[in-house]
Amino acid sequence: MSTPVASPDAARLLADLIAGRFPDERGRFGPFGGRYVPETLIPALERLERGVRAHLHASDFQADFARQLTTWVGRPTALTFAERLSQRWGAKLWLKREDLAHTGAHKINNAIGQALLARRLGAKRIVAETGAGQHGVASAAACARLGLPCTVYMGAIDMERQAPNVGRMRLLGAEVVPVTSGDRTLRAAIDEALRDWVADPTDTYYLLGSAVGPHPYPYLVRELQAVIGREARAQMLAATGALPDVLIACVGGGSNSMGAFHAFIGDAAVRIIGIEAGGRGAGLGDNAATVAHGRPGVLHGTYSMLLQNEDGQIQETHSVSAGLDYPGVGPEHALLAAIGRVSYQTASDDEALECVRSLSENEGILPALESAHALAGARRYAQAHPGCSILVCLSGRGDKDMPTLQQTLLNPEHR
Ligand SMILES: *Cc1c(COP(=O)(O)O)cnc(C)c1O
Repeated sequence: MSTPVASPDAARLLADLIAGRFPDERGRFGPFGGRYVPETLIPALERLERGVRAHLHASDFQADFARQLTTWVGRPTALTFAERLSQRWGAKLWLKREDLAHTGAHKINNAIGQALLARRLGAKRIVAETGAGQHGVASAAACARLGLPCTVYMGAIDMERQAPNVGRMRLLGAEVVPVTSGDRTLRAAIDEALRDWVADPTDTYYLLGSAVGPHPYPYLVRELQAVIGREARAQMLAATGALPDVLIACVGGGSNSMGAFHAFIGDAAVRIIGIEAGGRGAGLGDNAATVAHGRPGVLHGTYSMLLQNEDGQIQETHSVSAGLDYPGVGPEHALLAAIGRVSYQTASDDEALECVRSLSENEGILPALESAHALAGARRYAQAHPGCSILVCLSGRGDKDMPTLQQTLLNPEHR
């Protein structure tokens, strides 16, 4: 369960959050966040923090960022009313279409934003890590666009599982380095990317893929992804004259959700729900529902909720969707859960698969398995609140999931 925070404290923390006082000068979101890294990394993070402060909100940087988002990423992404599914579910369902963003998901907003920042900071090369390969593809594309060499560390096991994305990264000009140490998946790849970065933090920029990691990354990634919620809020008001009753997004590391939630945090009338990967069930190792089943601890340089066993060992996770399969979650989510501003729920593998089918058949949109978790949350909310208006962040498209869908929805032997 999430860390209980006494209610007067929760009210104060929420007021601080709305007033923009988080992260504080120590990089904390209330009790969460911070910078739990080896001494050797501190100068690099401090340099990055100074760079973020100097450039991120400067008008020339914002103009560059906005131009790339409009002319290359394809923003603003559409807001779509899901007419047939709304009728079926007995609610008004609106979709923020991040699946229409270049490279097929929200990840590109962060990748091009950080690549632009890297260039401003004088970096000569970019390093990134990737698990399922989606962040690697977005990083490779952003680097190609700006003419920056890109090295992507990827666990050897993941490279086998995600061979098409390895090919995409290479076509986009990135060097993909197999990581054969540690668990040979995302966790080991992150360690390698960090090692590479510390070796030369002036010429190298580490492009982190979600709202996780040590300060200032959770803040930086949220700010770059906040365009999702800003656009969606204005689009909802323009289309309906009102805000939605509820906003729902899926939560892996927590970047599409933080990006969608940020503009709505101060709208007290809008309920906000994050959907985590419920996998096969509530048992240890059967899911990736970090807020629902985790405890506070340190992972990848930040103090947040994480899935760990009794001895504090990081727990193996499971989800049908590779993008949600991470044992940690961003520190701002841990705070939002603790103060009760966002409610975190789970959707199972099967519920997500069912929603892939529903959205595809009823609206002609094949959603990513990650995004289908948010849809499953929306369906449940619609059942409990007939007639309500629901805004879902549809974080990505499902073409990348075809191998999994062949083995499940399209397999007559499945179940
Ligand atoms: C990577 C990914 C996610 C999960 O990452 P967050 O940082 O939690 O947003 C969700 N949806 C899609 C389509 C993804 O590619």
